[in-house]
Amino acid sequence: MKNLDTDKLYDLVGVGVGPFNLSLAALLDDQPEVEALFFEQKEKFEWHPGMLIEGTKLQVPFLADLVTMADPRSKYTFLNYINEHERMYQFYFLQRLDIPRREYNDYCQWVAQQLESCQFGHRVTNLRHVKDNESYFEVEILNLSTNEKGAFRTKNLVLGTGSVPAVPSSFQGLPEEDVFHTADFLKHQDRCKQAKSVTVIGSGQSAAEAFRELLKEQKRYGYRLDWITRSPGFDSMEESKLSLEHFSPDYVNYFYQLPQEKKDEIFPTQGLYYKGISNHTVTDIYNLLYEHSVGQEELDVGLQVLSEVENIEAKANGNEYRINCKQTETGETFIHESEVVITATGYKPLVPEFIDSLKSIIEWDEKGRYKVEGDYRLKTTEDANEIYVHSGISHTHGVGSTNLGLAIHRNKVIINHLLNRQIYKLPKKNVFQNFSAHNKGTASSSN
Ligand SMILES: Cc1cc2nc3c(=O)[nH]c(=O)nc-3n(C[C@H](O)[C@H](O)[C@H](O)COP(=O)(O)OP(=O)(O)OC[C@H]3O[C@@H](n4cnc5c(N)ncnc54)[C@H](O)[C@@H]3O)c2cc1C
Repeated sequence: MKNLDTDKLYDLVGVGVGPFNLSLAALLDDQPEVEALFFEQKEKFEWHPGMLIEGTKLQVPFLADLVTMADPRSKYTFLNYINEHERMYQFYFLQRLDIPRREYNDYCQWVAQQLESCQFGHRVTNLRHVKDNESYFEVEILNLSTNEKGAFRTKNLVLGTGSVPAVPSSFQGLPEEDVFHTADFLKHQDRCKQAKSVTVIGSGQSAAEAFRELLKEQKRYGYRLDWITRSPGFDSMEESKLSLEHFSPDYVNYFYQLPQEKKDEIFPTQGLYYKGISNHTVTDIYNLLYEHSVGQEELDVGLQVLSEVENIEAKANGNEYRINCKQTETGETFIHESEVVITATGYKPLVPEFIDSLKSIIEWDEKGRYKVEGDYRLKTTEDANEIYVHSGISHTHGVGSTNLGLAIHRNKVIINHLLNRQIYKLPKKNVFQNFSAHNKGTASSSN
């Protein structure tokens, strides 16, 4: 582990080590002139541990690993991980681009262990902009194993704090072993096995994966299983190749230069590019339902669409929950009861509270969101110090902001800006279709 130097003025300090900042740290490992440190509160790299269900897959090709799309010759490629683990022939015969989600996590851990710049078990607790002879950021951290506090100085920051579960307030305040978010699914899987009834609420990929896993085990453990969504259907994600081109630098550049009101209008209409269920997961579920139905008059499984859950209450008997629902088209209300409730209500960007201490230098839009330059710097009143940002930028950079493949493009842009020269080429045309009315592409200009 690197000796941390509290006197040094670092070039870059990163907050959070999820895949986005880990990719940046791995690419910067080849740039000795950049002194960088990345702080992560978890003890080691862990990618959505509650959803590392056996059989789940990365939803992008393994080529969207931490480095390949920027530098296929890097020693941190997924293929080098396979090679170092002496699995090349097995991977070759596997003939798949969509690697297991657990393997992606293992690969990221392998990279993180090699990077001295990544400090685990350290939470960033505050940020301060200081103007002395030179201006810099002071980053306050807490070492979670020793409880010691420390402060580091850096010219620039990069925020990679990711997202946290989004749970409506009307679902909160109930015992967490009975009513929990999919982010904790594996932690509570044994509880589900002991329950008489389990209900999953929501119809995105996480909901479908939890439902599929529970459906696989339903006969063995004998619980009643229900799946409720307010959507009109258990809709598939739009996965055609031309639709996937929305996850390209070209679409990001096109989207970025639109007026903010237009972006706010378009983004909510693009849910199926990233929020629906993968086709293979829907197929697995249908096959399981069909298999379970052989020789059965009725399945002990319910799939309920067009039904908004208004709130969840504990029943007086203390071992069941009342889920109050409303049919969205007829307005009828009904009550569904269940012993375990899994909320698959998605995630929201984590914009750390301590960003408030930089409030005076950051520019905000009328909806209270930070303004972001095309090259992923927050718009600030300070020219000397930059705050690059990965998280909470869907309102400016669009639907691909949380996509693993596009994170590499973002890191190329950030590194070119940080080093003030072209380390990585940024081709103007990367896809077959045009998004703007002319065929020239659009510059990553300020908004
Ligand atoms: C279950 C699931 C599966 C997904 N699968 C895919 C997929 O297959 N393909 C795809 O393209 N996208 C996928 N995504 C979307 C996206 O790629 C991931 O959410 C990805 O993890 C985002 O990376 P990140 O680095 O922004 O954030 P995160 O992975 O959320 O990491 C942020 C890190 O910041 C740390 N942190 C926060 N605050 C502090 C602080 N104050 N101090 C120190 N550390 C802090 C957190 O502990 C966390 O580890 C998936 C999302 C989910 C939820």
